[in-house]
Amino acid sequence: MKAQSSVRSGTAGGRCLIMALLVTITILPGVDRLAHGQDSLTSVGPADPELVEDLVAANRVLVRYGVLDGMGHVSVRHNVDPSRFLLSRSRAPELVIAEDIVEYDLNGNAVDLQGRAQYSERYIHAEIYRARPDVSAVVHSHAPAVIPFGATDVPLRPIYHMASHMLGGIPVFEIRDDFGMTDMMVTSPERGRSLVKAMGKSPSVLMRGHGIAVSGPSIPHVVGRSIYTQINADLQLKAISLGGNITYLDPREAQAQLDRGEHRGYSRSWELWKRDALAAMREETP
Ligand SMILES: [Zn+2]
Repeated sequence: MKAQSSVRSGTAGGRCLIMALLVTITILPGVDRLAHGQDSLTSVGPADPELVEDLVAANRVLVRYGVLDGMGHVSVRHNVDPSRFLLSRSRAPELVIAEDIVEYDLNGNAVDLQGRAQYSERYIHAEIYRARPDVSAVVHSHAPAVIPFGATDVPLRPIYHMASHMLGGIPVFEIRDDFGMTDMMVTSPERGRSLVKAMGKSPSVLMRGHGIAVSGPSIPHVVGRSIYTQINADLQLKAISLGGNITYLDPREAQAQLDRGEHRGYSRSWELWKRDALAAMREETP
């Protein structure tokens, strides 16, 4: 009604209306792009090509070891600016190549998405990086072996030395606590912050009825931790099914193992994992 009366009021009112329309037309596309996290940021510069190669390899290694399938994702903090991280566009991890890697800020906004789809749960990564300066790499998976331990009151505990990073246990994120009945997905900064609150200082957090988020100081660490968390869950389930008493690692034993350098930074395994992943990738290339 106000717009109509402005038009009727004469030349001055008409000018106001035209100005308002011009402002609206000028601002709206920018607001829309910001709201969708597209094309609104300046890059901090190209990432180290070796880091990008490691990230591509990590996607494929995690599929080979059953941690990721068509879903789930892995990211790494940008080597130029710790307030940015690198994550693939929305794509099945086994298909990810260097050109798919996108730079993100800690609000989950992409630098140059080029109109491509993005992972709706990128806020898991953004909020962990924001809250945890000790973290340089994050995996979110729906690894099947860990699901029972998020859905029951049986705690996931280290049953062998390769899972020593779990020495403090793994907390469980119950999305109902803050958000009631949801689609279970961490698709907003608010849900990401709620997840991080549950995670605390732990390297990992189980997500009830959904999966797990695992973090680490490097790509080899987060890949190793993700693989051995999944294996540990499988072994623990087998041990429980045997029905006898279970002797888990004492936290002091786990700590002594970690004091050796957490499997020397997984460097021996990482060399093998990466070589095999990249060899398989080269075979795919026509
Ligand atoms: Zn998920």
